Amino acid sequence: MFFRPGPWLLQGLAQVQQALPSQCGICGRWPSQRVCGDCTARWAGTQPRCRRCALPLPAGAAECGACLRAPPAFDAAWAAVDYGYPWSLLLAQLKFQQDPGAAYALAQLLARVPGVSAALASARWIVPVPLSDQRLRERGFNQAALLARALAGNCAPLPQAPDCAHLLVRARHTPAQSGLQRDRRLRNLRGAFEVPAWQTARLAGQRVVLVDDIMTTGATLDAAAQALRRAGASHICAMVVARTQRLPRQ
Ligand SMILES: [Zn+2]
Ligand SMILES: [Zn+2]
Repeated sequence: MFFRPGPWLLQGLAQVQQALPSQCGICGRWPSQRVCGDCTARWAGTQPRCRRCALPLPAGAAECGACLRAPPAFDAAWAAVDYGYPWSLLLAQLKFQQDPGAAYALAQLLARVPGVSAALASARWIVPVPLSDQRLRERGFNQAALLARALAGNCAPLPQAPDCAHLLVRARHTPAQSGLQRDRRLRNLRGAFEVPAWQTARLAGQRVVLVDDIMTTGATLDAAAQALRRAGASHICAMVVARTQRLPRQ
């Protein structure tokens, strides 16, 4: 027998971390929340984004040209910030240190984006983008699952939208995506995700929020959303903390 810390423990730790005085992870001010209000105001300004893929857009534009030409498999997307300093530091803590405090702070950042709370409240499931078994063994945890749990536990009215890491699985390991352009990524990811047959009844006709830490080209979220769509999900929103600019020549 062994004891395995469950989501309730990580969530509890995050709440304890929030309750205790700590230092702002960006400006170092003490005592503070994990990210202080001044740093949030300074580094997370509101940015108009494509409603379909969350790409930064000039004010007044609703969708980017790429989404108008070939919309992704998800219906809408939200991002809290553009990828870059200082959020890249907090995202690295989430990814490499299994830091529930970072997950909580980043989920809070996402929850303040207009439309996010309503999307979470109307979702039946909050589903993290899964890692392959191989990557999960190497890293020991899935940072997207930490975020999904923080979003479900702290930002959505439970039990309407529980986080569920088992509805969508990685069918096979895919090589690292970084450095590849979108069409190569899409080829790389074909068939990478699936909904186990015994789970499809839970998804049929349901609204789903798909969570990841960073969206680069959107190819991973697109492949994951295709699998949810095949399983019958009626509406799929992608939610990420940070959005990168598109790679050139796409
Ligand atoms: Zn600060
Ligand atoms: Zn777009």
